[in-house]
Amino acid sequence: MRIKYFGTAAGEGFPGLFCSCEACERARKAGGKNIRTRSQALIDRALLIDFPADTYMHVLHGGLDLREVKNLLITHSHEDHLYTSDFEYRKFGYAYFDADIEELSPITVYSSNNTGESIERAIKKGKLDKFNAFVWKEAKAFCSFEVDGYTVTPLEADHDKKTRPLMYCVEKDGKKLLYAHDTGQFPESTWQWLSEKRAHFNFVSLDCTTIINESKRNHMGIKCCEETRDRLLEIEAADEKTSFCLHHFSHNGKPIYDELKHIADEKGFLVSYDGAEFKI
Ligand SMILES: [Zn+2]
Ligand SMILES: [Zn+2]
Ligand SMILES: [Zn+2]
Repeated sequence: MRIKYFGTAAGEGFPGLFCSCEACERARKAGGKNIRTRSQALIDRALLIDFPADTYMHVLHGGLDLREVKNLLITHSHEDHLYTSDFEYRKFGYAYFDADIEELSPITVYSSNNTGESIERAIKKGKLDKFNAFVWKEAKAFCSFEVDGYTVTPLEADHDKKTRPLMYCVEKDGKKLLYAHDTGQFPESTWQWLSEKRAHFNFVSLDCTTIINESKRNHMGIKCCEETRDRLLEIEAADEKTSFCLHHFSHNGKPIYDELKHIADEKGFLVSYDGAEFKI
């Protein structure tokens, strides 16, 4: 299994769209890996996680080929993770395909029911189901489902409750990955599932939005990521071979990539950047 990060920032991007704080200025000046677009990741060429407005940029400059994508896992309905306006452009007339519309396989979008409301609205408004462009399926916390040979289990996250946010556990060929965004310290329901199911991860992607600022609720900072790693090790959901990658960063958290890399190296964490790819 492989994971590729196309975008690695929180909602406003890093540098922030309208921001001239010191962190954003340093990021602009340094360029390269210090420039972060809104978060999106792809597992192998099979499962795309989240669909921000920057998806188009990831197609243009990041090597994302949406013509290959048939399954989309959505963590929650905040716009930096779900920008449904662009779904429209998979309709015939905006897009042409080798197959006829009747034979076209739709992109299946998985999310919680709350987040599904905005997906269903977009599907209805654009008649996207009639064009076989998109269909929505409910992903229920702690209920595993199969997608193209992958076992996916949504877990509860600690984030805006109105969206009923989910993290995703993805498993294939004996390898297991946890994508934990956006979330604060994991809810006890998720810890209980992890213990009971004796889940064991090879790769864990952790929300580190607030970086050096401490945060336990809604988003995490490095300190909370360390505590989360400790607890995962304690319940044997991870071991010394498990890779832990910090991801989804805000400029309010201060360090740009070049600075954060040193801090993360010392603590034994990987750091995501736009274009980063890891073999699991
Ligand atoms: Zn976010
Ligand atoms: Zn800023
Ligand atoms: Zn969010």
